[in-house]
Amino acid sequence: LVKMQKLHKSYGPIQVLKGIDIEMKPGERVVVIGPSGGGKSTLLRVMMGLEKIDSGSISFEGNSYISSEAADRKTLIDTEVRRSIGMVFQHYTLFPHLNVLQNLVLAPCKVRGEPKAKAEARAEALLDRFGLGAKAKAYPAQLSGGQKQRVAIARALMLDPKLMLFDEVTSALDPELVSEVEHVILQLAAQNMPMMIVTHDMWFAKNIASRVIFCAGGVVVEDGPPEQVLGAPREERTKEFIDRVF
Ligand code: ATP
Ligand code: MG
Repeated sequence: LVKMQKLHKSYGPIQVLKGIDIEMKPGERVVVIGPSGGGKSTLLRVMMGLEKIDSGSISFEGNSYISSEAADRKTLIDTEVRRSIGMVFQHYTLFPHLNVLQNLVLAPCKVRGEPKAKAEARAEALLDRFGLGAKAKAYPAQLSGGQKQRVAIARALMLDPKLMLFDEVTSALDPELVSEVEHVILQLAAQNMPMMIVTHDMWFAKNIASRVIFCAGGVVVEDGPPEQVLGAPREERTKEFIDRVF
């Protein structure tokens, strides 16, 4: 599904990604764990074309869409391919001046030229599915953190992504709101949505992952099934991290 090859990325003198190679198969749910500053968010942002890379390439379903080889130094070389990927961030990124329904239909109508009535019908169905049917006309400021994140997920799904990226989507939430967001993601997992998830929540990691990658110091330290990486890590650095964090 996705093939990342030799990704390198620096911010000034700081090397954040030091040669990342990850190949994701269809249907995989990859949980990425690792110490703060290890490059997890940078990796996801690179996959979305939000950060330039210094070298390397990423392809999606065999189509190269991020490459450092591009002549004009833009690393996002195929926006259409990139649109197959949806992302939700730690901090809510809803448009505050638009209500929930307007947040959901904006991109499909603008980017894809979908008729408004059709987009609204899809949006309402998604909101119902996520237990937000009554909130269609509410503004982001009137929602709880958990509701906002569920809306953010619904909004990403409106563009029919073939892969979803989640970057610590529950870390900013009060503890009692975490599970409602995790359950929405588990619901997507049950429908075989491929995903890459950065999380510090061990329960969630164990329940959602088909594969776990431990990333530290800009490299993949360990990569394997959850029972191995979370349960019986082979690498000393992974073991030390798991013991300390989880
Ligand atoms: P966390 O678990 O804290 O979210 P992370 O693994 O997501 O950490 P990144 O956010 O990818 O780590 O950051 C990796 C490194 O890159 C850090 O040293 C960070 O300070 C640096 N960095 C990230 N974004 C920028 C930026 N826009 N400008 C300069 N340095 C940055
Ligand atoms: Mg991060």
